[in-house]
Amino acid sequence: MESHPTAPSLIDARELDLDQALQLLQLAGALLPDEAPYSAAWLQAVVSALCDLSSKDALTGLANRRSFEMALAREVDRVARAGEAALLLMLDIDHFKSVNDTHGHAAGDLVIRAVAQAMLQTVRPMDLVARIGGEEFAIILPNCSPHVGVTVAERVRERVAGLAIEIAPGQPLAVTISLGGAFAPQWVRSSPLLWMERADRQLYRAKAEGRNRACLEPQVDSLVSAEEKGMLFASLNTDTQQDTP
Ligand code: GH3
Ligand code: MG
Ligand code: MG
Repeated sequence: MESHPTAPSLIDARELDLDQALQLLQLAGALLPDEAPYSAAWLQAVVSALCDLSSKDALTGLANRRSFEMALAREVDRVARAGEAALLLMLDIDHFKSVNDTHGHAAGDLVIRAVAQAMLQTVRPMDLVARIGGEEFAIILPNCSPHVGVTVAERVRERVAGLAIEIAPGQPLAVTISLGGAFAPQWVRSSPLLWMERADRQLYRAKAEGRNRACLEPQVDSLVSAEEKGMLFASLNTDTQQDTP
């Protein structure tokens, strides 16, 4: 009879050196798991807390800049492969310095959180909302046609402008945002940096044109002709047909 090699023994979690990780979580103000230390549930909670710490923004709970950059690089690849339209929006709170100066930094933080929540509630679950700087945000909208993009950008702007942010009991505050947007060029390889620069240029335009507005880069015709697209699709269809018996 054939002998089976003995299965490698699983590690004993107590042998792991987690001091640094736990210290990091404590310093970050993350709640340590309630489960029995070194149980599977406890380890899972520690790992999840570390993931949150490295991918989320502490003030708003949105994706942080690192997550955003990774997601943007993924989206650039996807657009080049699938040829779907995708929109990148860059957003910045208008005259935010005066919010801090007039009402204090804590009130400013409340405003940043309220604006973040409003953005999150206005977009689709598949869209990624990130805080990429102090009062600067970005939204990646995969599979987004130009028509939908214009509507969503306007909806986000309106939603934020309609907020009454209670910075103190009985003291509501209204703020506005400016938005800049650019679509990923389909069928051509681009870079995340170039895409961000194009969206940023539109944000700058929105600020220069008076703020509280969304400016989207005018759509340029695809660099690939309709004939070339047709050929690409034809070859994809042939591939698919060959796979089917
Ligand atoms: P603009 O309309 O041109 O965007 O004007 P602005 O006043 O918003 O300009 P700017 O972007 O220069 O100001 C951003 C301010 O945001 C400066 C900084 O003090 C403040 N800030 C950055 N991060 C935070 C934060 O985490 N909390 C608070 N409360 N303020 C922050
Ligand atoms: Mg700014
Ligand atoms: Mg600003």
